[in-house]
Amino acid sequence: MGHVPDLERGAARAGEMISIEQYFGPWGECDDITEERRANAAELLHACAALEYFALRDGVEFPDNPHTGSGVSGQTYGGFRPQECTQGAPHSSHKEGLAVDRYDPDGKIDGWCMSNLVLLESCGIYIEHPADTPRWSHWTLRRPGSGNRVFRP
Ligand SMILES: [Zn+2]
Repeated sequence: MGHVPDLERGAARAGEMISIEQYFGPWGECDDITEERRANAAELLHACAALEYFALRDGVEFPDNPHTGSGVSGQTYGGFRPQECTQGAPHSSHKEGLAVDRYDPDGKIDGWCMSNLVLLESCGIYIEHPADTPRWSHWTLRRPGSGNRVFRP
């Protein structure tokens, strides 16, 4: 009696929509998180959610990474990286809040992206070539020097 259907259940399904907290992960209190980097991250995650919408519609799944409890890949450096992180160059896209590694254990996310480059373009997302990103998919707002939608650094 008076039971309200759980309409939110679908929206909260595992692996969907990386939150800003999940993006910053263990570095949430880091001094490196400037207003600009936080704004970059918000813009990035908004673009990711848009692209994810199209992928989900095609049946692509975004599993949770057991190490991060979200769709962020890796152990600690799949989302934001502090400036002193030895992984990646200074001011890399991860260090500026402009890139995220999506957990992609079987390469299906990368595979879908390669078949839907027009949608990546409409969402403003570039990816690193799948051959260089086994088990993850690097999504970034930063246009590579080549200008290619799929790039090899
Ligand atoms: Zn990356």
